[in-house]
Amino acid sequence: MEVAKYKRIMLKISGEALAGDTGFGIDFEFTNVIALQIKELVKLGVEIGIVVGAGNIWRGRSGDGMDRTTADYMGMMATCINALALQDSLENIGVNTRVQTAIEMKAVAEPFIRRKAMRHLEKGRVVIFAAGTGNPYFSTDTAAALRAAEIEAEVILLAKKVDGVYDKDPHIYDDAKKFNKLSYINVLEKGLQVMDSTATSLCMDNNIPILVFGLDKPENIKKAVLGEKIGTLVSDSAK
Ligand code: UDP
Repeated sequence: MEVAKYKRIMLKISGEALAGDTGFGIDFEFTNVIALQIKELVKLGVEIGIVVGAGNIWRGRSGDGMDRTTADYMGMMATCINALALQDSLENIGVNTRVQTAIEMKAVAEPFIRRKAMRHLEKGRVVIFAAGTGNPYFSTDTAAALRAAEIEAEVILLAKKVDGVYDKDPHIYDDAKKFNKLSYINVLEKGLQVMDSTATSLCMDNNIPILVFGLDKPENIKKAVLGEKIGTLVSDSAK
């Protein structure tokens, strides 16, 4: 019988990953595949929080010449679009979900209320946290770290387009070396592009391990939860 290593997880899915191979927008075939993987985890009894990014639709820095905060609010709105798409794929296959937003939009989703989120998780509902942290100048990685701390997740599963953390961009350099383990401090000192430094520091201060892995193979989500050795683990034990 398969036994999950973690009871409660935070899954961070970047917007870029949701675009599949198209690079922009939402690839519904892909969200459906991810939804099936998440269903497997629910069946294993894992409690799941998800934070979605928005790079497939909008990033604050896309708005060159725009007021930064306005551009960031647009990014946060875009995460809500992704959250509803993922919710739809999950509900279609019978997974109970709730979307909670950091910026109130009550006609569309619940506002973020930590105690309510905890209750949903305990009842086996997947909670999708949208609108980032609700604040400009932050990222959805930071939102994932913040919500992970709040819901007491044991790990952040950081699903990316690349299969782990490398010393340099593996798409450009053939000799790029992949790390199996890293400490938070290593990530910060080497300036490795795992998460932004705010998010990494938050994980370091609250001792939340981050497992970075590739979503090119969607079954990796389950492998990660079963504790199989994939991707790169960022924690304080690799000092
Ligand atoms: N954003 C923000 N505050 C947050 C989270 C996100 O202002 O707490 C905005 C920011 O402009 C960011 C965009 O939303 O560029 C999309 O999020 P992100 O770039 O983290 O998405 P990802 O790279 O994961 O797809």
